[in-house]
Amino acid sequence: MLKILLLIFLYLFSFAKEGVQTYGEEKNGELQIYMINNNPYDITFKYLATYDKLVPVQSLPITDSIKSKGTKLIAKYMIFDEQYMLTNNYSWVLGNKYAIHDDKYLYKLPYKDGATYQVTQGFNGSFSHNGDSQYAVDFGMEEGAEIHASRGGVVVDIKNNGFRNGANKIFATDANHITIKHDDGTYGKYVHLKFGGVMVKVGDAVKRGDFLGYSGNTGWTNGPHLHFVVFTGKDHASRKSIPIKFISSDGIVDEPIRGVKYTSVE
Ligand SMILES: [Zn+2]
Repeated sequence: MLKILLLIFLYLFSFAKEGVQTYGEEKNGELQIYMINNNPYDITFKYLATYDKLVPVQSLPITDSIKSKGTKLIAKYMIFDEQYMLTNNYSWVLGNKYAIHDDKYLYKLPYKDGATYQVTQGFNGSFSHNGDSQYAVDFGMEEGAEIHASRGGVVVDIKNNGFRNGANKIFATDANHITIKHDDGTYGKYVHLKFGGVMVKVGDAVKRGDFLGYSGNTGWTNGPHLHFVVFTGKDHASRKSIPIKFISSDGIVDEPIRGVKYTSVE
């Protein structure tokens, strides 16, 4: 139908990752806009639009979350005239803004049982642990050290072909990583693995303590280390990192401290 041709859907500001689309459906004099998230992870998005001869039923912009492989009715417009125009704009990040972290969970240190590594940057670390990464932890670790799951879940995102590194934010997208979805809807991310060092694939179910891959020095780094962070979506442009507790051979670690060595136990 002609009026369908008048719908223009632009994917402006969409991040480089694919997998999110919108479509419109006319129903009872309304135009209903749906968003499809084809990714294996939840997303948090911001949606707005420019339009003509339509009246939005809700206020814009909208910030909301969609489950993995989910479709959601996100906006409605009353149709004023058949010759209407609509341009949808949206952006999104991985993570669900409604997830509530299980703060009682005690994470395993993200390496082999019995192995000992030193924290080189803790929560609020001055090199890079601010904003989205406020509650991340860095473990100084030689390249090739075994990384094990701090918590079980499903692998939802990986990168395995990065090889550049440097002490500058411009290298951030070169980091190899593994992202695991936990059963409370939060995500754990293991970053800076070596080229080809990711030994799991998207869709794999992993248990706490399972071997995930080999540490490295890819991305935004000033030396080989593992960066580990647990997060949820906050809005379309950022994540909210979560302060977590670990268990070590010395007991519960309420906050990992820079310069202190911790031995992994089950
Ligand atoms: Zn870090």
